[in-house]
Amino acid sequence: MADQVVDVVIAGGGPAGLSAALVLGRSLRRVVLIDEGKPRNAVTRRSHGFLTRDGTEPEQLRMLAREELRRYETVDLRHDTVVSAERAAGGFFQSHTKEGLRVTSRMLVFATGMKEKLPEWPGLLDVYGRSVFPCPYCDGWELRDAPLALLGSCKSKLLAHVQLIRTWSRDLVVCTDGPAGLSAEEKEQLHERGIALYEQPIAALASSDGQLTHIELEDGQHIARTGAFLTDTGAHEATDIPRQLGVGMEPRGVYQTGNHGLTRIPGLYIIGDAKHAFTGVAGAVSEGYEAGVAINHALAIEDW
Ligand SMILES: Cc1cc2nc3c(=O)[nH]c(=O)nc-3n(C[C@H](O)[C@H](O)[C@H](O)COP(=O)(O)OP(=O)(O)OC[C@H]3O[C@@H](n4cnc5c(N)ncnc54)[C@H](O)[C@@H]3O)c2cc1C
Repeated sequence: MADQVVDVVIAGGGPAGLSAALVLGRSLRRVVLIDEGKPRNAVTRRSHGFLTRDGTEPEQLRMLAREELRRYETVDLRHDTVVSAERAAGGFFQSHTKEGLRVTSRMLVFATGMKEKLPEWPGLLDVYGRSVFPCPYCDGWELRDAPLALLGSCKSKLLAHVQLIRTWSRDLVVCTDGPAGLSAEEKEQLHERGIALYEQPIAALASSDGQLTHIELEDGQHIARTGAFLTDTGAHEATDIPRQLGVGMEPRGVYQTGNHGLTRIPGLYIIGDAKHAFTGVAGAVSEGYEAGVAINHALAIEDW
């Protein structure tokens, strides 16, 4: 493999990378997809909101996609981790993996997603992905009308978060784990809507078998709640290889990309959560398709 040049290496086999591989494989492009198999949604039992697969287990969704891809001899699926990549002679990319594989490719796609750095509240890991979630579009329906909490601060965006979560339940409290950063007028708006604001530090999240039961504040108060959303999961890029290749970062902590995920480095693309921080499965699949089409088009012009 080291001496052959494949058309595209895709790092990351979540919905974004798998979708790009499908388009490119069907375009007779030789694709090597390398996935370490640690997606951020592995903690959750059901993935919601993707048409025809609403409520499917995240791993089941990826397994179905891999099964479909195995029909295409143009796509080589590898369980491995891309540990480095560099520009090689002739404008190619050379990618190296943990298992010692070296692959040279004309194009390189990062669909490596994000990793969370969750707040360090005792008990959070017991409930995260079970009854406390990052995204209401993913899990709001399952928690509709339940006694909910919004956990965390996020300062300037806090009120927007509250307005959003209130879509799914009017029985809502906000625990900011420190000063909320809201004006007196904004606090009054919460009060008028019956939304209690707790600015005391959060001591722990209590639960039973993954089910949140109450939030313990440092001053000893217990707030009974059965579900919650986080304002911020501390998500950061899963890999800094694109940065080593010369891709800059946006102030909000994601890579700088242009149309179809193309970066300022010719032939280097970034798609899915790695591009947008949180695309959802449908968004990631769509980005993989879009980038796959753009890459095939660019290769077709090169081959002309
Ligand atoms: C708790 C939780 C629940 C969610 N629930 C939903 C939901 O219900 N519905 C929904 O639409 N979305 C949901 N999401 C969001 C969804 O998981 C993501 O938006 C989506 O998976 C992004 O797809 P992706 O392909 O960009 O990244 P990912 O799915 O994260 O896939 C990235 C892959 O790249 C691999 N990788 C990383 N670095 C390397 C490397 N160096 N080499 C090789 N492989 C690498 C990772 O291990 C992973 O397998 C949820 C997210 C979380 C955190």
